[in-house]
Amino acid sequence: MITCFEKLDNNNTDEIINKAARILKKGGLVAFPTETVYGLGANGLNAEACRKIYEAKGRPSDNPLILHIGDIKQLYDIVVDIPDNAKKLIDSFWPGPMTGIFNKSNIVPSSVCGGLNTVAVRFPSNETAKKLILASGVPLAAPSANTSGKPSPTKAEHVQHDMNGKIDMIIDGGECDFGIESTIIDFTEKIPVILRPGAITKEMLENVVGKIVFDKAVYSLLSEGEKPKAPGMKYKHYAPEADIVLVNGSTENVVKKINSLLSEDFKNGLKSGVMCRESNLKLYNSKFVLSFGNSADTAGKVLFDNLRKFDDISINKVYSETFDESNVGMAVMNRLKKAAGYKIINV
Ligand code: AMP
Ligand code: MG
Repeated sequence: MITCFEKLDNNNTDEIINKAARILKKGGLVAFPTETVYGLGANGLNAEACRKIYEAKGRPSDNPLILHIGDIKQLYDIVVDIPDNAKKLIDSFWPGPMTGIFNKSNIVPSSVCGGLNTVAVRFPSNETAKKLILASGVPLAAPSANTSGKPSPTKAEHVQHDMNGKIDMIIDGGECDFGIESTIIDFTEKIPVILRPGAITKEMLENVVGKIVFDKAVYSLLSEGEKPKAPGMKYKHYAPEADIVLVNGSTENVVKKINSLLSEDFKNGLKSGVMCRESNLKLYNSKFVLSFGNSADTAGKVLFDNLRKFDDISINKVYSETFDESNVGMAVMNRLKKAAGYKIINV
């Protein structure tokens, strides 16, 4: 299959959106930008079109898809009940990087939901995403447009790297604003449960509806036999080719430890890199040091791009600084821990 690559400029948006919508209506696959990461879109009410998403990504069939809506009316077609706390959070955070889990209506194929009776729904704020959904006339299933298990794509080039020849079209709308996937909240529980942390933080949600809890899979490695509530969270994720190790502690201790590990690796012929705050860039003795910027917010935006950059230069090991697990730091640490397979050195 030849993948058509279209870059948006100020004049061609409508033409490209219409072309993409025609592909989607015929059951094809189109990758498009959202404010979180690039999504791989298909008609979310067409089981056969969604099957192609699983095939292109190599995604296990029990890992359900998120349906993306372009206006709030579409929500009422695909879910059966919307609890009051969900309504309040929708008023506050949609359109935006928040996904809700609801009981699904009959028009949503069960294969799109990994066989569950619930459906995940998001209303993105990105203008291209909204226009594309409305032009297609149906909710779009749109998981991250990467090969399953790899870092999510935050630039169209990342999508091209993973999906070229496997999908019909890629719309290049530039770099994603947040760079980290949406916050997923299960609204089928009395107290809403965060299944995946994102840019809409627990603190922001609690300001609107009071108590919210994290699913255990958000912050720790589950033991054998334990099941996360979001089926996708049990799979290996965000994994670059290199071994990632997190080093946690005071800056002084972290720098000392990482530099000693780097010199050991160097002696053993390994190519090792570092991910750190901008202000610490000069403190590490490696040629391969990538910056997170200076906050968890900037780290979220560049994390997946950094992981892919290390792959491009075939790094063997990456040592990473850590962040406080509050606000957006929770989402960044969740992705970092998964990328590292929970290998953390406390110093
Ligand atoms: P992705 O869109 O690939 O970034 O991932 C979507 C995430 O949403 C996966 O971790 C899924 O397991 C989760 N998810 C989607 N639908 C549901 C659902 N009905 N219940 C729980 N988790 C879901
Ligand atoms: Mg994904």
